[in-house]
Amino acid sequence: MQDLVRNLLVALGEDPTREGLVNTPKRVEKALKFLTSGYDADIDQVLNKALFTVDYSEMVIVKDIDFYSLCEHHLLPFFGKCHVAYIPRTKVIGLSKIPRLVDIFARRLQVQERLTNQIAETIRDKIDPLGVAVVMEATHLCMSMRGVEKQRSFAVTSAMLGAFRERDRTRTEFLELIRLRHN
Ligand SMILES: [Zn+2]
Repeated sequence: MQDLVRNLLVALGEDPTREGLVNTPKRVEKALKFLTSGYDADIDQVLNKALFTVDYSEMVIVKDIDFYSLCEHHLLPFFGKCHVAYIPRTKVIGLSKIPRLVDIFARRLQVQERLTNQIAETIRDKIDPLGVAVVMEATHLCMSMRGVEKQRSFAVTSAMLGAFRERDRTRTEFLELIRLRHN
């Protein structure tokens, strides 16, 4: 990967041997490996020690989870907040595992819509809840830095499954609890 980065620097018109750039290929490789480390993560290993059977069927909400991802179209960051809710049927996920799950999917090359769906579908598949909702609000540097579509540089996506899709009241309760900043 370091050779590729060196070639990229040359293609950009840079001199990869100058002082400021000489270690850049090494740093870029390290950064990109970390930012895409979600490909190697084992979701079952992360979650299976943290799934608990409970007698609780109220909405569980984890909101304002910071996330950072890379857009697969430009390899530029998009980042923002993720809000997750679910209604348990018999099982819950340890609360600290929800941000971890968000990270696993965010640390891949993504589009925001797929990222949102993957988080929701994984929770559905792992604990079979009565419903799952995920809302993500993000700024996309590929839009804001390039000066295009500024008005849409803040994107909101949502995935509503089960009760959140079928019951207006459940969905509304969730949306009120997370109070989107931009609507
Ligand atoms: Zn992009």
